[in-house]
Order: sequence, then structure tokens, then C-alpha cells
Amino acid sequence: MDLTALAEEFGTPLYVYSADAIVERATMLKAAFSTAALNLKTELKTTLCYAVKANSSLAILKMLGAMGCGFDIVSGGELERVKRAAPQSVGKVVFSGVGKQAWEMDAALEAGILLFNVESEAELELLSERAAALGITARIALRVNPDVFAETHPYISTGLSAHKFGIAIARAREVYQRAASLPGLRPEGVSVHIGSQIRAVEPFGQALKRVRSLVEELRADGLPIHFVDAGGGFGIEYGEGAFDPAASVASYAHELSGVLAGLDAELLLEPGRFLVAQAGALVTRVLYTKQNGDKHFVITDAAMNDLIRPALYQAHHEIWPIEKSERASQVADIVGPVCESGDFFARDRETPELRAGDLVALLDAGAYGMSLASHYNTRVHPAEVLVEHGKARLIRRRETLDELIAAEML
Ligand SMILES: *Cc1c(COP(=O)(O)O)cnc(C)c1O
Repeated sequence: MDLTALAEEFGTPLYVYSADAIVERATMLKAAFSTAALNLKTELKTTLCYAVKANSSLAILKMLGAMGCGFDIVSGGELERVKRAAPQSVGKVVFSGVGKQAWEMDAALEAGILLFNVESEAELELLSERAAALGITARIALRVNPDVFAETHPYISTGLSAHKFGIAIARAREVYQRAASLPGLRPEGVSVHIGSQIRAVEPFGQALKRVRSLVEELRADGLPIHFVDAGGGFGIEYGEGAFDPAASVASYAHELSGVLAGLDAELLLEPGRFLVAQAGALVTRVLYTKQNGDKHFVITDAAMNDLIRPALYQAHHEIWPIEKSERASQVADIVGPVCESGDFFARDRETPELRAGDLVALLDAGAYGMSLASHYNTRVHPAEVLVEHGKARLIRRRETLDELIAAEML
């Protein structure tokens, strides 16, 4: 795709996504689980519930819904997105999150979602009240905290008892008994999510082994546990290292399927990053370059409010000029215009020399990019373009300043 032409037509900063790359990843993930089940001579029905928070663009939700995916939501706002973009898929929605409010529960109950992933006993009580009041039975899973360590950035690690997520697995059996005794609730699943951007497959297997034992105990207690929700979190390679998504996802599928073989359960997966991260780039234009002492800076029109991952997680994104460059290489900090020293995309990064007016692409920006964008420094959100079969279409126009301040009162 000619990114220069897109930047000229739609302006910068601009998120550009490849629809084909997203479809390819979803297909790859599904195929990996079918193959793993075949190899292990087991049957394991698997449903992908795309984690909406990774990239919540309506056009992307619509596309994944059309492929038969369900969705993992964490708020009433995300439920509203699914209802508008993929209304036929509401029955395949799982609702996660530690702070669900009554109105969000009501909306999800009325929409008829598949499963509530309940994260505390207090939430269980409230959900029971809301369900009973509406006369609707809520299918629930408890999100258990398996106390498994997975190597990733501390801000996106969630599976240790030190984290706010889930219910300690040691107490889960007792909490399930409580759930079974409450009106309006039907315990049908067990769920787990140990974190995000996890590259090794063993932690997923360890967590799921504990989940499997729990499922067996709960069934012995007479509960009809049908769903095992293994969460999301499968990572990608952001750096220059080799990454074979098909091979790595095959080992992930083999690990999970191996643990669940013969359990007679339906597996739910909540992938976010793996599906969309590498399908997106953030295109930005160089505004200025400058030298401070022996530091060289490249200042782009995109900033941390458009893509916060480097500032928030010390994340690495490859950054390359869009036009093939014959210029000598340089080492520079690539930074945005926002008034924070944390507003950088890269430090001491080697690229071909960059000059004012050049276009550069920040790669692998399709997940946790736009969905984490803010208005900090009163900057409007970037526009977004989706490329489908070689054709680009605007899926979100650039905001106006009027829209940005419309909800405020003088
Ligand atoms: C964020 C999140 C996901 C998605 O994680 P990825 O790393 O993007 O795959 C899935 N499930 C839950 C509960 C989450 O919080």
C-alpha cells in the first residue's frame, strides 16, 4: 500500500490497518487449535472471543464478527460497540473486569451475553441481585487467579496473587458453592487470564492445569461446568527478532489443548494483541530535527497521546521511513510534541537520517495504540484507515477541535 498517498489524502498522524492481516491471524489461530486437537486425538470446540480493548474500532469488530468471532469486553461501553458493530455476535460475548457496575450488568443481561467472568465475591452478590431483578439467569465463570508467574512487563502481568485480578484459586471451590446457591446465577465455566504479551507457552499450560483440576472438582461437586476460558495474552515479537506467528501459535495451541485433552469442555480464547498488533502502523510526519549537546532529536507530529506504549511499558516499536532512503544512518531520540519527557517513541534509535517533512511508520501499532489514545495537550485523535483487498477506506475520520471540547461548559 502506498502509505505516502494515504498520508497525503488523510493527513497524519494516521493509523493504517490491514484487514487481510487480521483475518489471517484469526484464521491461523483457529487452524492451530483444530490441528492440535487432531494431533492429540481429542475434540475441543474452540471459540475466539476477540479482546475488544486491544483495538475497539467498529469496523474491525464488524469484520471479526462476520468471521464468527465472539468478543471479550471489559465495560458497558465495549458492549455498546459490539451491539452496534456485530449485533449477531452478542451471544458470544464474555464480560471480564474487576469493577463491573450495576448498569453494565443490566445491559449485558438484557443483551443475552454468553458468560460473565466474575472477579470477586462482592461482584457475585450484585450480579445475582441484578439477574434476579430482571428475571434473567446469568451464566457465570469465576475468573481464578492461578498464582502463576509469566514473564512480561509488570503492568500487564495479572496472574499472581499480588495482582487485583480474579479470585484466589485455593478459595474458588467454596465461592462456586456460594454462586450455585444464589438466585439468578448459573456457574458454567472457569476462566483465567494471566497477563499480556506473554511469549512463552509454559505459563499458559501451568495456569490451565490448575484450572483443569478445579473443573474436575467442581463437576464432582455437581456443577455443570462446560466452558474453560483461557483468556488472552499470547504475545508477538515487536523487535527485529525472527517471529513465525504460525509456528508460535501452533505451540501455544498444542500446550493448551494438551492440558485440556479429554476434558469434554468448550474452550474460549480471548486474543487481542495477537490478532491486531502486527496488522497496524502509525504513520507520522517529521516536524523538526534538533541537536541538544550531543543528543539528536527527531520530533514527529504523533505523540504519546496517540501511542502510549513506549511511555507506559517501555515498549519497543520498529520505526522506519516510508520512502526507501539512501541517506547515511543516524542515532536519535524520536519524540512527540507533548510536554512530557516520557513522550518518546524511541531512544538512541538508529535509522536512516530523518529530515523535516519525511514520513515514518511506527510498526506493530495495531493493538493498544488507538484504544489507549488520549486528548492530552488538547490534541485530537488520529484518523484511522482500513486496507481491505488493496483498497483503503477511512474507518474513523480525524476529530475536530469542536468535537474534542463539545462536552465542556464555560
Ligand atoms: C486484555 C485482556 C485480554 C487480551 O489480552 P491480549 O494480550 O491483547 O491478548 C484478554 N482477556 C482479558 C480478561 C484481558 O484483560
